[in-house]
Amino acid sequence: MKVLEVAVIGSGPAGLYTAEALVKHAAALEGPDWPVRVRVDVYDRLPTPYGLVRYGVAPDHKSIKSIAEYLRRVLESPDVRFLGGVHLGEDVTRDDLLSAYDAVVYATGAMRDRRLGIPGEDLPGSYAATDFVNWYCGHPDVGPGTFILDAESVAVIGVGNVAVDVARILARDPADLHSTDVPQPVLEALQASKVREVHMIGRRGPAHAKFTTKELRELGELPGVEVIVPAAEADPDAFDGTGQGASLAESDRRVRGNMVVIRKWAAGERADGAAAGEGAETAGGPQDGPQRTLTIRFWLRPVEITGTDRVTGVVLERTRLDGSGAFQGTGELETLDAQLVLRSVGYQSVPLDGVPFDERNAVVPNAAGRVLGPDGRPLPGEYVAGWLKRGPTGVIGTNKSDAAETVRSLLADLAGVPAGADAPLPRPGVLRYPDATAPPAGSRVEALEQALARRGIRPVTYDVWLRVEEAEAELARSLGRGERVKLHGRAALLAACWPVRDDSAGHGTARDDSAGHGTARDDSAGDDIVSGASVSGDSVG
Ligand code: NAP
Repeated sequence: MKVLEVAVIGSGPAGLYTAEALVKHAAALEGPDWPVRVRVDVYDRLPTPYGLVRYGVAPDHKSIKSIAEYLRRVLESPDVRFLGGVHLGEDVTRDDLLSAYDAVVYATGAMRDRRLGIPGEDLPGSYAATDFVNWYCGHPDVGPGTFILDAESVAVIGVGNVAVDVARILARDPADLHSTDVPQPVLEALQASKVREVHMIGRRGPAHAKFTTKELRELGELPGVEVIVPAAEADPDAFDGTGQGASLAESDRRVRGNMVVIRKWAAGERADGAAAGEGAETAGGPQDGPQRTLTIRFWLRPVEITGTDRVTGVVLERTRLDGSGAFQGTGELETLDAQLVLRSVGYQSVPLDGVPFDERNAVVPNAAGRVLGPDGRPLPGEYVAGWLKRGPTGVIGTNKSDAAETVRSLLADLAGVPAGADAPLPRPGVLRYPDATAPPAGSRVEALEQALARRGIRPVTYDVWLRVEEAEAELARSLGRGERVKLHGRAALLAACWPVRDDSAGHGTARDDSAGHGTARDDSAGDDIVSGASVSGDSVG
């Protein structure tokens, strides 16, 4: 049976749904050359799998986090291997991958925050929401002490679901997070938080806000938190000369749902129907009234973040849509006092070394997942999936159908389906496989493994990652908290991966974090890389 070797770069939902679809769809294909067995190596720059499911989903969203249980089964497939702590562009090059594998699928997501482009954006106290999310999720790129919540008032710029997540984590009683996997230093910082007011700022109206109703409604269900929306700004007609907002509030199900919730808050009701402040239990008791307020504002855009040594506020300009639908500032300004500003205005993908990148749209140019070269034609053997393919939109599940499309393109190219007159893609022979001149795929992958070992790179295999899971479960037990508590910081993760032990063979003991990106570099690791592969129960030959 033919074996197709595929590298998937990124072990978040897009990468793992791709790996799953590759294995499943290839096995189901019929034809003279089929089935083809597909072996997938899933690389990640981090030593941990699951991407945004681990480092993006808020700790109190347990049901969304349970997607990791589904993705775990993909990594446990005998045809899939995890190679964590291997950074494309630093530890391994695009050429390395293209020489070793029949196809490469890039699925690295969107790691960078979009910028506001206003004065004061880089003042201390002004952060990308991605930094704050990374911090409360325990991402190894952001240290446990990054945020000290000594601000009384926080401005969150943007009204998407990430803004809702950060506003909720800031506003909610940290006691609710005790049984979650939130890292202990983060829980302690939230317990010591001085935050009393959270302001979420939308530059357009309530009908244009990107958040979803379920997530929005949850804000009104937080004990001890009063949600406030100024009545004038909750009116979809106000500041909108086109009537577009009002018609969206009728025609679009999500917007309709959002407006029901927003109107209740504007009328001074809690989402559960109680009057504001009523039944809002606090740590000090219900009689104390709301402990924190969460104010949602619309039709205001930030024009400056103020402060000299650190953030003291945000200058906001009233906006409107004129009769022709043009979005404009009115010149009317107000200053919001805030000692912390979190810019939650969307994520962006970053270019991968050597891989084509459309800077304008911050995606890899592609047609149904086939990476397109500068001449607009598909490059042999290169594919893309997830946010890197379509931009940072949709929920986690959106990546499943997105990955399926990319895999359909890849397998169609493998089959060499002739192009129809009205369908320039797929084109026969676009995939690098089968290539009569190339050595057998397995030996090419082995050669890459040996090259990595020579560079001192020791990938974190799935079985090694399981040691992190065990350490996190143990930490939860020792703290008397839930099922798991995340280890925070790269050093803690790598220490769990490769505990220092007295091992006369010298395997698995050396760690060096100097690479700064989660790869264990070990000069004596030359033979570990192959044994690491066999640990995962897979063969590379
Ligand atoms: P998003 O949904 O695109 O929202 C970005 C927000 O930033 C919008 O309100 C946008 O306003 C605003 N914005 C953009 N540029 C701005 C500027 N210069 N000044 C002021 N405001 C600006 O992005 P996101 O919140 O980062 O979410 C990314 C994706 O992840 C979404 O698909 C989201 O649903 C998903 N997600 C889902 C969940 C969940 O399901 N629980 C949780 C987190 C994230 P405009 O509309 O005016 O551009």
